[in-house]
Amino acid sequence: MVLCDKCGLRRARVFQAHNGLRLCEECFLEDVRARVWGEVERWRMVEPGDVVLMALSGGKDSYVLLESLALKFKSSRLLGLSIVEGIPGYNRVEDVRALVETAKGYGVDVFVVSVKEFAGVSVSEMVSEAKRRGLVETACTFCGLSRRRVMDYYAKVFGATKLATAHNLDDEVQTLIVNIMRGDTVGVLKLHPNSGAPEGGVRRIKPLRKIYEWETATYAMIRGFNIQVTECPFINENPTLRAGVRSILYEIEKLKPGSLLKALQHLDEVLGGEASKLKGAKIGVCSRCGAPTSSTRTLCKLCELLEAIGIGEPNYVKFRAGREFKLLSSN
Ligand code: SF4
Ligand code: ZN
Ligand code: ZN
Repeated sequence: MVLCDKCGLRRARVFQAHNGLRLCEECFLEDVRARVWGEVERWRMVEPGDVVLMALSGGKDSYVLLESLALKFKSSRLLGLSIVEGIPGYNRVEDVRALVETAKGYGVDVFVVSVKEFAGVSVSEMVSEAKRRGLVETACTFCGLSRRRVMDYYAKVFGATKLATAHNLDDEVQTLIVNIMRGDTVGVLKLHPNSGAPEGGVRRIKPLRKIYEWETATYAMIRGFNIQVTECPFINENPTLRAGVRSILYEIEKLKPGSLLKALQHLDEVLGGEASKLKGAKIGVCSRCGAPTSSTRTLCKLCELLEAIGIGEPNYVKFRAGREFKLLSSN
């Protein structure tokens, strides 16, 4: 029997190829949490007095985010947000309920909100209308933009000072490579934790950014979380650059374990200074909804996309003052 390299007491069940350690389940869970907390501390992701709004999808990563922050910080400083995109077959009431119940076990409230209520149309309705009009935008463009806006909006509504997402190491390195290939320098810098928030914005934090995707999957499996396993029907509709980068990165990691981790560590070391300059950067404001947007734009990207599918006044325009927001209860 191979014993755990950390405690030397229990049977080793998890092999971390990036550092060559064989760990028992308990030591593996501890290791993941310690690395998450280490990253949170290193970049001061959570500071005294902060209220953190966690974006929780119900997938494996979001459960790891929830548990690792809930075991570190007081529940009064944590809130969860679950966004119902409105994608039939993908958004399931039982998954949301399982998430809400698990969070409740830590004393954390999860608010369930929908894109349909926020924008007036669900992601599926946006996609159907875009197709009908012959537009080229993918479902993920509509979905990603809507979700980001919903998060920003509710962070302000709840008075959250940080917005935590459950992006893992694989997600981060994929985005890094995609941004490099597109020549998006600002996008590369924004991946650095020093980039902070633009003027008037809520800082996004990614506590799982140094945890491999296989590790969040293993963590969730060991803990027996009731994770959402249904795949989004749009996931393979448009093979994207990201999908290609993702499969190449897997091959590289297989050949040379630890490569993804090193890539992100390298980014942390060399780009910190440049990334800090983005903090508090002046940006423009959308003339329709008032949301922050690039200074070269009149309308924000979401308002522009919705206008292209015939929605000139999305619901969120009315919520602008932050007084009329609604919550969609999952119960
Ligand atoms: Fe949204 Fe589905 Fe695309 Fe994910 S795969 S961003 S859930 S449309
Ligand atoms: Zn052990
Ligand atoms: Zn707008």
